[in-house]
Amino acid sequence: MIFASRNAHKVAEVEQILGFDLELLPDDVESPPEDAETFAGNALIKARSAREATGQAVIADDSGIEVDSLDGRPGVRSARYAGEDATDGDNLAKVLGELAANGGDPGARYVCAIAYIDDAGEEHLFEGTCAGRLVQDIRGTGGFGYDPAFIPDETGPADERTMAEITSDEKHAISHRGKAVRDLARHLGLQPYL
Ligand code: IMP
Repeated sequence: MIFASRNAHKVAEVEQILGFDLELLPDDVESPPEDAETFAGNALIKARSAREATGQAVIADDSGIEVDSLDGRPGVRSARYAGEDATDGDNLAKVLGELAANGGDPGARYVCAIAYIDDAGEEHLFEGTCAGRLVQDIRGTGGFGYDPAFIPDETGPADERTMAEITSDEKHAISHRGKAVRDLARHLGLQPYL
């Protein structure tokens, strides 16, 4: 089974959750434009393109963060919110700047859609969400993307650690990706590691 992702953070997280390494797309396979308006739509675009290129069973992940007071932005544009070549830091600074300017609800949720195309070519979708809020004083070195500003609800009201301050095991237990990958593992009859 091939994991159609060029994002090293995502690959590491999915492998940690499953407890085994995944085969990745060969370097010469081009990534398709992710122009769908939903996470599931983009996950399917990536999975279908990888399937076409390899003829093998494939999985693809599309994920991002939706902020309540920004009408769900950055959403499917999370990876390129501050521009096509934006870094994680650029994207985070843009979201926190917009949030500070509107003074609105910092409530947010991560969403992860996983598309799986099996050996027979049948398509399956798995989705996980993780609710929380964004804070301006970013902290922590774990995780990636928006994690230094995101406090998950599921660690409890007294716990002010960001997603970049909790351990990776704690993150996978409650994260959008952990939930979606565990659903996929159950579908495959596998026992996920985390
Ligand atoms: P994709 O590669 O198009 O699915 O974009 C995913 C983007 O969403 C990443 O580049 C991050 O900005 C954000 N994102 C997705 N999952 C996470 C996470 O677990 N932590 C922090 N940011 C995430």
